[in-house]
Formats: sequence, C-alpha cells, structure tokens
Amino acid sequence: MDTRILDGVALSRKLRAEWQGRASALAQAGHPPGLAVLIVGQDPASAVYVRNKIKACADFGVRSEQLELPEQTTEAELLRHIDRLNRDPAVHGILVQLPLPKHIATEKIIHAIDPAKDVDGFHPLNVGLLAAGQPRFVPCTPAGIMELLDAAQINPWGQHAVVVGASNIVGKPVGLLLLQRGATVTFCNSKTRDLAAHTRQADILVVATGRPKLVNADMVKEGAVVVDVGINRLPDGSLVGDVDYQSMLGKASYVTPVPGGVGPMTITMLMINTVRAAEAAYARAHKAVNVL
Ligand code: NAD
Repeated sequence: MDTRILDGVALSRKLRAEWQGRASALAQAGHPPGLAVLIVGQDPASAVYVRNKIKACADFGVRSEQLELPEQTTEAELLRHIDRLNRDPAVHGILVQLPLPKHIATEKIIHAIDPAKDVDGFHPLNVGLLAAGQPRFVPCTPAGIMELLDAAQINPWGQHAVVVGASNIVGKPVGLLLLQRGATVTFCNSKTRDLAAHTRQADILVVATGRPKLVNADMVKEGAVVVDVGINRLPDGSLVGDVDYQSMLGKASYVTPVPGGVGPMTITMLMINTVRAAEAAYARAHKAVNVL
C-alpha cells in the first residue's frame, strides 16, 4: 500500500494565503483583526506555544496583544483582564493559554470570555453549539483535522471513525465533527478494554492520548486513515506522536507526521477563527448579515 502524507505545513501555507487576504481586507476597512493572548506563570512549554501563536499573528496580518502575568496573579485579577478585553472593540479573539496555575479555576476563566471572542471554542455556549450541530467556534485542533481530511478529499460519510482519547479540547469535539459529517464514531479512553480490537475497525483513526507511540501497525487496518494528534518529547529530546509513524508506512492509506501534521493546522485554525470573529464583529457593527 502506498501511504500518503497529510501535510499540515503545506496546507497551512495554502490556507494562510487565502486568510491573509481576508485579514488585510478588514485592515483596509479600518478594522484589523486582533487577538489577545494571556499567559499566567512561567511554564516553558506554554511559553513556546504562545511565541508560536504570536508569530503566526504576524504572518497572517492579525494584530496581537500579549499579556504575560506573574504566577501569583489572582483569579479576580485575571477576570478583570478578561472583562477589559471583552469590552475592547479592537480585540476579536481572546485566548488564555492553558494550563493555568492551580489556584485559578480554569472553568471560571473560560466561562468569563465573551463567547463571540472565544476563538479557542472552549466556552460552554460554543461547546453546546458544536454538540447541537450548529458549530460557531470549533476548537482549533479538531477543526484543523477536518481541514486536513477535506483537503485530501477523505469523506467521513458512512465510515467508521475511531477516536482514541476523549478530552474536551481534542477527542470529544473531533468525534462530534466526524459524527456530523456522517461517520459512525467510537470513542476510546484509558479505561477501554482491548483497545486494539477497536482501533483495528477504524477506517479513520484519530489518536489523541499523550502516550508516545501507543498505536502501532498491528493495531490498524490496512488502508486506514491515521491522524496522530500527540506531541510527546522523549528523554533523548526527540519529538514523537501517539502513533508509531514508521510502522504506518505501507499499511495506512494516509498518515499525519509529527511534527508537521496536526500541529501547524492548530495554529492556522486559531488565526482563521480570529479573522472570522473580526469579520463577524465588522458585520455586526455595520448591521450586515452575521457571517458566522
Ligand atoms: P488529555 O490528557 O486531556 O486526554 C487524554 C485522553 O486520552 C483521555 O481521554 C484519556 O482517557 C485517553 N488516554 C490516555 N491513555 C490512554 C490509553 N492508554 N488508551 C486509550 N486512551 C488513553 O490530552 P489532550 O489534551 O487531548 O492531548 C492529547 C495529546 O495531543 C497530547 O500529546 C497533547 O500534547 C497533544 N495535543 C496536540 C495538539 C496539536 O496541536 N497537535 C493540540 C492539543 C493536544
């Protein structure tokens, strides 16, 4: 079997060309899209993620505002920042980098973000709209996975999709999106008995567990589409996914590499959600039809 690569870097480049144009049209209308990124504390991985997001803003023509708050920031202080950003008309997207320090209740913070600026798609209103089949802001990683499938003309309709990992930010929303696109969906988690018996049934297999190389070739059906969401740093410093990539070559019909598959698409979808939020705000301000 000839295994094809679902290339998130190439697709991101293509999408960027289109969405840069939309961002610059807004800027020319005096309404440049703006994203505020808040980070609390010194987590090194979070700092890298935030740097990449700010760099992507520059690449897409999105104005960015970064707030680096000290570890001891209180919940009330963080809520005040969010309240100010909610009311700032130049800010269209608000992203709070997770995880937050333990003394801050993450749910409380996510619930405080204006759902119209919730470009991460984590607010319960946006989660509910997604579950109801009327998605507004879809979490960026699941949205990026659907773009990768669409770009390769992989149609989930009637296919058996197996999602390994059922987190709120990846597993659950990607399963819902696949369901809405006509797939029969199985969710697996750390309690699933005989994981391989499930994964072997997958026409489309999405793995998002944070367990390095959990899925190998013996666990996938010949010709399956394999999407690896995992990003794991091994003790030797190398970066691997949740899938044994090498063993998929010759067995899967499509596979995402790590790095270079789902990762770049996540950031691209954050930019797209921000430009869409700005377009919707512009339409509201001009009493035009809401484009979302
Ligand atoms: P999480 O820890 O919130 O959830 C993990 C899920 O996997 C849980 O549902 C758990 O039950 C399940 N799981 C754990 N071990 C399992 C096992 N042995 N068998 C079956 N299921 C198992 O993780 P998350 O936030 O969804 O992230 C998952 C992975 O994806 C991590 O490696 C993370 O770094 C990565 N990630 C990547 C991107 C990206 O842009 N590529 C974005 C988000 C997360």
